[in-house]
Amino acid sequence: MAEECVFCKIINKELPAAIVYEDDDILAFKDIKPIAPVHILIIPKKHIPDMTAVTENDVDLIGKIHLAAIKIAEELGISEKGFRLVNNCKQHGGQVVYHLHYHLLGGEALSIFA
Ligand code: 5GP
Ligand code: ZN
Repeated sequence: MAEECVFCKIINKELPAAIVYEDDDILAFKDIKPIAPVHILIIPKKHIPDMTAVTENDVDLIGKIHLAAIKIAEELGISEKGFRLVNNCKQHGGQVVYHLHYHLLGGEALSIFA
């Protein structure tokens, strides 16, 4: 838990979110400003500021996020036609919230590197 981190507050239910998946390690919820018909944020409950802060200790956790993405995509009906899983890393990657998260995007044909 990092003070002032908006995603930690969502994890701790101090802020509301439309949660679509939760387990001991991972939370997934609808993005507040969707850019596709399906736009889900998948986050570890552990506060990792950005992708460069991932270590060997987090390998299982990152794998679980990948498996959760597959499961959520199936549940939301975007698995068959496909989807995109995106991490924006730091300033040049367009990261705004510094709690590691992956955007699960789908529901339409996405433009290449929008
Ligand atoms: P980034 O640019 O850091 O990869 O993406 C951050 C994402 O978090 C943005 O798509 C933004 O719309 C979303 N976001 C920011 N604050 C909130 C919030 O309080 N609730 C939800 N559900 N999404 C948020
Ligand atoms: Zn956090």
